[in-house]
Amino acid sequence: MLPLGRLSAAEARGLRGVIFDLDDTLLDHGALSAAAYAALFRLRGSGLRLIACTGRPAGWGEVIQRQWPLDATVVENGAIALVADEGGSRRIVALDPLDPAVRRERRRALLDLAAELVTRFPEAELADDNDARRTDVTIDIGEHRRVPREAIVAMQRLAAERGARTLVSSVHLHLTSEPDDKASGTIRLLVRRFGEDATAARARYAYIGDSGNDAAPFAAFTLTFGVANVRGPARRLSVPPRFITDEPMGQGFAAFAARLTELRDAKAT
Ligand SMILES: [Mg+2]
Repeated sequence: MLPLGRLSAAEARGLRGVIFDLDDTLLDHGALSAAAYAALFRLRGSGLRLIACTGRPAGWGEVIQRQWPLDATVVENGAIALVADEGGSRRIVALDPLDPAVRRERRRALLDLAAELVTRFPEAELADDNDARRTDVTIDIGEHRRVPREAIVAMQRLAAERGARTLVSSVHLHLTSEPDDKASGTIRLLVRRFGEDATAARARYAYIGDSGNDAAPFAAFTLTFGVANVRGPARRLSVPPRFITDEPMGQGFAAFAARLTELRDAKAT
């Protein structure tokens, strides 16, 4: 992973947008700092499209999409994208490839599986954001609980035996029956909403994240960044981010935004 100083002006100027993770990338242990929030406005002021991309629930995404300077919010690790209604109102609509009844049916089975897992692994508990979810179920492994890595791996194995996919972020173990990940869900959004070419988009949008559920976009996009706390999880990523910030979480995000906009906004020499 390269220091931010190695990013070139040509790379920075070739971008149309930035896709960013929330937990422990923009947010510090769930909290939004003034520096990180200001960085969003700085990026937008530099002419970049902004897309939040998180494992957090659709219900949380609807709130930030309504309030923050965002062009879209991809939630539940790529399963659903939220955008403002094209009619120009502030109404938020979901781009969801599946019927809501199918969603509810699939999720019921995942809730049964999650109940079994937290019974067998009492060090874990059901996460407190499940009521706002539509497609997946989350188990708290690092937000209010500290679950040992062996127990997480054992839960993943059991979930796989039951036919569920799992994704691990810094805070949650996700159980899902969706085929999507953060990369496929975001690229579908870029094509459907912004008319991008699915292949060219990989070089036109930067991605910044910090953990295991960012593995797919770290591999899919050309310009990828990790905040400093990606160092631990990076050992388990097949493709680590190309660049890494010196600072962790929100401070790292602010440093990334400062470097990117400085290169974009400097007069070409
Ligand atoms: Mg994260």
